[in-house]
Amino acid sequence: MICKLCESEKELKSSHVIPRFLYRYMLNVTDGYMTQYHSHLNLWQKSNRQLKKELFCFECEQLLSKNELAFSEIFKQINKSSDSEKAVFSYAVLDDSAINELEQKGYDQKSIDALLKSNPIYDKIHILEYFAISYIYRELLNNSYKIPESEKRLLQNYLLNGSTCSFMLHVRLHNSQPSFNLVSTATVFDALDDWKHYTFYVPNMQFHVALRVGGTPEDMSKTIVMPSNFFDDDLGSIEMIRNTQSGSRKSANLNQT
Ligand SMILES: [Zn+2]
Repeated sequence: MICKLCESEKELKSSHVIPRFLYRYMLNVTDGYMTQYHSHLNLWQKSNRQLKKELFCFECEQLLSKNELAFSEIFKQINKSSDSEKAVFSYAVLDDSAINELEQKGYDQKSIDALLKSNPIYDKIHILEYFAISYIYRELLNNSYKIPESEKRLLQNYLLNGSTCSFMLHVRLHNSQPSFNLVSTATVFDALDDWKHYTFYVPNMQFHVALRVGGTPEDMSKTIVMPSNFFDDDLGSIEMIRNTQSGSRKSANLNQT
């Protein structure tokens, strides 16, 4: 069998399409049935089914699992914090103009550094970024959605070798009640030629990746983490999800508690 990441001929392991710690979390906070959205089936359902497939060799599964374990610590920390505490995780790359602005407000370099370091994930952003791409990559392998070989290579080389892959990542942290406890597979939007958008949810977090696929890849990776009320915020990406999910089917037990 050919490993779907390193493409070596190896014995393949049975892998979770959605990482196992997320299933475990969902089973804990729900009645044992998890709300799941499958973009491929366009189906919302409550199910304890865990998607598994033979995708990767032992080494590649280990490579992805290592980062997923690191991400699961961040995930737990975020989900343990109260709604108002979510603001502490806010993150954006400070470019020159943002630094200028802070300096004009009276911050010096030392206090800017202190401000950055007060964020518990300020040095862990690469873990979020790698997690987002690996989540999408697992889903692409599971899904029948076809992407061009060149785009698959971008993700594959990033995951395997840390090669450049230009993308923007917006992570929203749900900060209102009730909790937003659902997992979804990645939904793909490819209306634009040079950008491809992927969105997915894990409990109380929304990931939106805009992958630059057209032209020369530019090194422009930008990641933003921000609190958000998923029920009220009229966000472009949420609106896009509503559109792609129109006509989706819902399993009969979905509204049961
Ligand atoms: Zn492999």
